[in-house]
Parts: sequence; structure tokens; C-alpha cells
Amino acid sequence: MRAMTVSPADIAPPAALRIRVRGQVQGVGFRPFVWRIARARGLTGEVLNDAEGVLIHAEGPDLPGFLAALRTEAPPLSRIDAVESAPAPARGGATFEIAATAGGRARTRVTPDSAICGDCRREILDPSDRRFGHAFANCTHCGPRLTILDRLPYDRPNTAMGAFPMCPACRAEYEDPADRRFHAQPVCCPDCGPRLLLDGESAGDPLAAAAALLRAGKIVAVKGLGGFHLACDALDETAVATLRARKHRPAKPFALMAEGLAALAPFAAWQAEEEALLISAAAPIVLLGRGLHALAPSVAPGQERLGWMLAATPLHLLLARAVGRPLVMTSGNLSGEPMVVDDSEARDKLGGIADAILGHDRRIARRVDDGVARVVLGAPRIMRRARGHAPEPSALPDAFAEAPPVLAYGGQLKAAACLTRDGAALMTHHLGDLDEALTAAEYDRALEDYAALFEHRPAALACDLHPDYRTTRLAEARAAAEGLPLVRVQHHHAHVVAAMAEHAWEGGPVLGIALDGLGWGEDGTVWGGEFLLASYAAFERVGHLRPAPLPGGAAAQTDPWRNLLARLDQAGLSAEADRLLTGKPLGPLRAAMERGVNAPMSSSAGRLFDAAAALAGCAPDRQSHEGEAAMALEALARRGDAPPAPMAWDGAVLDPAPLWPALLALEGAEAQASAFHRGVALGVASAASDLAERHGAEAIAITGGVAQNALLLDLLAEALPGRRLLVPAKIPANDGGLAFGQAVVAMARLGG
Ligand code: ZN
Ligand code: ZN
Ligand code: FE
Repeated sequence: MRAMTVSPADIAPPAALRIRVRGQVQGVGFRPFVWRIARARGLTGEVLNDAEGVLIHAEGPDLPGFLAALRTEAPPLSRIDAVESAPAPARGGATFEIAATAGGRARTRVTPDSAICGDCRREILDPSDRRFGHAFANCTHCGPRLTILDRLPYDRPNTAMGAFPMCPACRAEYEDPADRRFHAQPVCCPDCGPRLLLDGESAGDPLAAAAALLRAGKIVAVKGLGGFHLACDALDETAVATLRARKHRPAKPFALMAEGLAALAPFAAWQAEEEALLISAAAPIVLLGRGLHALAPSVAPGQERLGWMLAATPLHLLLARAVGRPLVMTSGNLSGEPMVVDDSEARDKLGGIADAILGHDRRIARRVDDGVARVVLGAPRIMRRARGHAPEPSALPDAFAEAPPVLAYGGQLKAAACLTRDGAALMTHHLGDLDEALTAAEYDRALEDYAALFEHRPAALACDLHPDYRTTRLAEARAAAEGLPLVRVQHHHAHVVAAMAEHAWEGGPVLGIALDGLGWGEDGTVWGGEFLLASYAAFERVGHLRPAPLPGGAAAQTDPWRNLLARLDQAGLSAEADRLLTGKPLGPLRAAMERGVNAPMSSSAGRLFDAAAALAGCAPDRQSHEGEAAMALEALARRGDAPPAPMAWDGAVLDPAPLWPALLALEGAEAQASAFHRGVALGVASAASDLAERHGAEAIAITGGVAQNALLLDLLAEALPGRRLLVPAKIPANDGGLAFGQAVVAMARLGG
């Protein structure tokens, strides 16, 4: 590694030290922290920010203790990559001071938005505090960051707080190194901070009025950190059903918010790892099991696990307390469009859905959705990298420390781009599905935005193999215009490499299992259930699920029953298909499949799960969102207990056909769902073990959108005992993580 860590025992007393601290150490209260621990030990010297992080000159009696405290007592939002120290000539000063920021190009990080800290929480709930009831309280340990940032460096005039001059009391806190708000850029109070507005008016108490409306069963649009939400009482079926009808969203589960863990307890059940996620500074939406008390049925029809977050800002905390019930907190957008961010746009677009709009006069500098995470195999896994996660960089394996900067464009759905520089990868926040024009425009802005924020100029570009992804065309156009090399990366290779790189894999080729929806294959067919023997630079497709037709092409992605037809026919069970799928246009579809018209072949694991969901009867005729049928099937399977249905493995092709007669012989949907999950896990694990053995792979990566199924992952891990498994955690296993894998493949190919 580039940095040497010095332990206290190595230091000869009582010299002076020059100490360099690298990592996320600016804008998080690090200098005042250093100042405090230095003064507490009677040291003299100085601390300052510069282009490389924090630089300290310290002299005095207790330098070893000081060095140790730098790591053990560091402020909550800081992240120390390295502490390097070297003896320095003594200066003999009398005090320890915070010096002005040294010149040079800033290479500082922007920290993610962070949930309200315990101290700020106490203050806004304390009637004797001057910030009692203040919806915008924050300090160096918490508050908005990325969502208020216009440009670097991170100073108040460069943020949406620039429009709010500090009052004398706030200024005094801001300038006092002993204060928790020393150099907290968004510091403010009721006298000088943003004002809440109800339908544009600040008169009265907008927050209390909004809470009263919510208690009365009304729908209120609420301005959050990265965009508006639509809120209503999650216990009021009429309110929730009205929200569904007005938002034209029939089935997709709504996210929920509770004031805190105590308020959540009646409605959800969780384990320690899930609780840690809920109360983390990122405060994402976490998928949790149901509790003893029921919510309004329309919150998440048919779903066993619900997405919950805890109130993460003072505004949300005060609102949730005032309402006293769990709230539906769904993205404030029109169907398919990105979240609304400004108050006038909210009036135009959300006015027809919400009965009132709780906004405020602080601009949202950057649209950022809520993050989503789930505990799988006992560890938190990010499903959507957004508020609270972005823009935290990910370290790259050491082999890429010197690689040229790359910009990777990602996929088409759950789009996010990835910028690499100086041995680290920076993913943009989740940007959404690029099929939608407004989201596409948002993606273009985000590319410019992140390039400017991080002063990134790519030396190479990377994209998917799919010729029609919007991201592919953008990458091609830029590569042509600027004469940059463009590396095209197969979809599932990118998925597998993302898992390898996240775990800093440095061994030989890995057996990658990609259980996915659809991705463009190297042979021009549609892949999605793949066994790849993969290195960072290349891969060999050593196995795959047996392809089946997708009758109706794109329609087979939304209509699970189409896949059941194709699979049963393929397994020679056409009579069963006739029986199960009465009323569907089977004749024309069969004719089309026979002639190969609008029925592309695909090895997709996602469509296999859709077919099984249709067989078990838990799939709608048309899914309102990707994964709807598969999530219902997973929920069913958890309640079932049936032996695994068989699959057939010939050393290269894993054939699901034997599953179907076994499933049809079972009584009850829960047993079918259970036998299917166990059968697929066993089939995939046996194939993977065989391949790993034959090819000498030391590790098995499991990734792809279908690999977010927690039950499937548990069963797979059980069936692969003693194997080193690489499962994505901080980088999404779904297409939200593609860009990270693409960037690494590009670096590996260009460097090799
Ligand atoms: Zn705070
Ligand atoms: Zn103030
Ligand atoms: Fe994918």
C-alpha cells in the first residue's frame, strides 16, 4: 500500500511529529477534533486542511496517545484511510491552533448526506434549546451534504445554504473550534435558516398543519433532502388507496417511514444487522419482515417484506412525531418520471396527487433518491445506491492504483455511471430507468455534474455490449468526438467483475454465477443465467441455463404467463399449459415461437422465476414492476417446505425442464415455490461446483438482479459449503452496479 501506518509503540518520545491523515477527513469536523485532543494532551502545533487531506504538526509530551486517539476517537462521519507520521523539527510554539486551509488543488471528498445525529435530535426536541422544533438543524456530525452542494470546495457559498446568511449566534458556533458546529457549512437556526412553507405560505405552523392533514387522511407532498415524497397515514386504507389511484400505481409496494425504532416496533420485525442499517448515517430504506400490527392493505399488496426507513432529517423527525403513526413515504414523481425537486414543479406535477405541499425555501442542488438495502447472507447489501451512500468512493484492487481514469456508462435500467481515478471508483447515485426521457436528461446532467465535481477527465470509456442501450450510444458518440478508446463489456462479465473487484479479488479466474434478467450476449442472443470463468480482463462462458423462447419479445418481460407457456411447451407439457393458461392466446404465440417470430431465445434466470411464479399462481398477468412476481414467489417459498425439484446438468447446460413435472405433482403454491427455490439453488450450486472443480476456480461470485433473492442466496450458500463466495454488498448486484464492473474491465484490458 502507498501509506505506512505507524503504531504508537514505534514513536520515540518526545520529539515533534509531522502527521498526514488521508481519507474522508474534510467537512466532517476533523480539524476541531484534532484541536481538542491535542489541547487535552497539552500539545502545541497546528492542524490544517490541504489538497491531500489533513496535515498536523504536533509536539509535546503525549504524542503516542495523540496518535492513537486520532484513530480511536475520530468523528463519526470521518473515514481514515491512512495516518503517516514522521519526526519533524520542533517549533517551540505556545499553543495548538487550527490554521487556514493551505493552497493547492483540492482533492477532497464530498461526504454523503447523513441522518440527524443524537445531539441535534436532542436539541430540536428540547423546549429550552434555541433550535427547538427547527426543521433544518445540523452539525459537523450530520445533515445535508451532496444534496446541497453546487460545486467544490465544500464551503457554504458553494451550497444551497449560501442564500442564508448566518445570524450572530450561528456564526459564533461556526467559528468556535470547541463547538460541534465549528465549520459546519449548513449551520443555521430558526432565526437565519430556511423556512417551511405549506402550499407556498410560511404563516402559522406549516409543519403542525401538514401533520394535522396527514392525521385526517390527506396526502401531503413533503420536500426531502434529495426530492419530494408523497406521504400519507400508512394505517389509513382510504388514504393509501387514494394515493395509489391518484399516482396510477396499482401494485408496486410503497416505502414507509417511522419516527424511530420504538415507533417501528409494532409494524416490523428485524434482526441486529437490519437495525444497524436502519440507524446508520446513510439511513436507507431497509426491507424488513412484517410485525404484529397490520398496516393498510394497499401499502404493499401481496408482499411479505416492506421497505422501511427511519426519519433521517429534522423535518421528517418532527413530522413523524407530530403525526404519531407510520407514514407511507413514496417518491414524489409522476409515473416513470424522476422525483420532483423544486417547489414550483411540485405544484404543477404533484398538485393533482397531493392535497397539500410541505416545502421550504432551500433549493435542492441535486436530485437523489432514497437508498435501498437488504440483509442477505447475514450482511447488508445495497440494492439502490443513492441518498446516504453517494458519493462515497469504493477502493479498487491494488493492481488498478495506477490505471488511467475511466468513465463507465452502466446499463439502461437502474442507471448509474462510474468514474475511476487514483485507485478509487466513484459511482454516481442511482439515476433511474433511461427509457424515460426526463430520466435520460437527468443522466446526462449527472455525468457533467460528477465530472466537474471530481475534476475527472477520462482517458478511456466503457459501456455495455447492447447496441441499443442509450448509454452505449452516448459512449460511442463521446468516444468518436474525443478520440477516446471505448471498451465494450459483456453485461454479465461486468456483473461478475463488479463482485470480484468489490472484494479486491487478487487470485486466479473466478467462477461467476450471473442470475439476471436480460443482458446482451456475445453471440447476439439474450443471456441471463450464466456461468462465466472470469478474470478482470476476459471471460469464458463455461455454462448457462438452457435457453427458452421469450414469446412476444418485450411482452415476455412483463407477462410471467408467457414464460410459463414457453417453458412447459419446451418440457413437453403442452397439455398442462393448455390447462393452466386457459383464456390466453396460446395458439398464435405457439405459431410465432415455432416460426421464431418475435420470440428470441434467452437463458434468463429472471424469466425462469417469472414462469415459476405464474405456475404457483402468485404472478399478475402483467407485472407493474420488474421483480414483482419473483418477490411474491420468494415470500411464498419461505412459508413452504418441500424437497428440491430436479434440474438436469450435462456439464455445460443447466436444463430447468425437469423442474416442471415435479412442481406440477405438488399440492399447493407454497410447496411449489419452495421446491422451485430449493431445486434451482441445488441445480445452480451443483453446476457451479462441477465447473469450479474442472477449471480450478478458487472462488465463486454470485451476482445479477435475481441474486437479490435472500432465500435463494441462503440456499445457494448452504449448497456450496467451504467455497469462497464473492457476493456484492456495497455495489448493487443488479444493473445499478454494472458501471463499476465495466470500469474495472476497461482498466484491466487497457493496462494488460
Ligand atoms: Zn448533528
Ligand atoms: Zn442562526
Ligand atoms: Fe443485469
